[in-house]
Amino acid sequence: MHFTGTVYRNPYWPTWPLLEITQGCTHNRCKFCTMYKEVPFRMSPIEWIEEDLKELAECDPDARTIQLLSANPLVLTYDKLERVFKLIHKYLPKMEYIYLAGRVTDLNNKTVDELKKLKELGMREISLGVESGDDWTLDRIHKGYHAEDILEKCHKLEEAGIDYWMTFLNGVAGKSHSREHAINSAKVFSQCKPMLVGTGGLTLFPGTPLLDEAERGEFDPLTEKEMLEELKLFVENLTCDCAFITHHTISGVNLSGPGFLARKDKIVGALDHQIHHGDLDRMASFRRNKRTL
Ligand code: SF4
Repeated sequence: MHFTGTVYRNPYWPTWPLLEITQGCTHNRCKFCTMYKEVPFRMSPIEWIEEDLKELAECDPDARTIQLLSANPLVLTYDKLERVFKLIHKYLPKMEYIYLAGRVTDLNNKTVDELKKLKELGMREISLGVESGDDWTLDRIHKGYHAEDILEKCHKLEEAGIDYWMTFLNGVAGKSHSREHAINSAKVFSQCKPMLVGTGGLTLFPGTPLLDEAERGEFDPLTEKEMLEELKLFVENLTCDCAFITHHTISGVNLSGPGFLARKDKIVGALDHQIHHGDLDRMASFRRNKRTL
């Protein structure tokens, strides 16, 4: 198999085969991320993709699910994705469910009709690393789009009938804009229909511009308690009827599962409990020991 640089497997689909169809990230500018810094973006050579599919077919010819790599394979044009998807079906004829990650802007180059055709070819689920719905925050971290783009592109996916995840990056606005980040993200997410909202907590990794800024006193990171307060504010304002998962931020407390609205009060209560009684030192130590997103 060909794997280049960092391989991110969706931890919620731990057994799905992985197929690298692109390398690196087209954007590579988010201030909190070093995942693909050393890997220039390119589409994998089609011969590599075909070789890997042959290998996957030898291991599990009946595979019905697959995750495509790397950071944002969704950016490929319709024609290129169609070619790859047809190859997947050639080698794995029982394939039903293709999952891949992407940026909001990766949907710029596809029409709703093209997305519908990709869905017919198996593209059933997309993970969008949205991070924030607050324009000030999105500019601050160099995400390269604004709230109106998120709404437009998510509605495009809804029209095409493709399920998608939205992520919220807890803590990424720092102290000065924490409130706006939480409330405006919840407002934007709540106008969409994701199958799942996921939250991760910011860790300042070596090599990231955000850590450099923090060291120069230009970025004011939240404490663990403030992270929890921000997450609680986000949850209180979120009205999506979807699944909800949270990781990175709280160790030892499982708030993840389906039916967010039915569980919302319970989640808020659990966060409140952590704010007042949680082991904040342990959470900080857990975050300090993390090595990647
Ligand atoms: S967070 Fe995602 S979009 Fe941003 S640089 Fe990292 S991989 Fe690319």
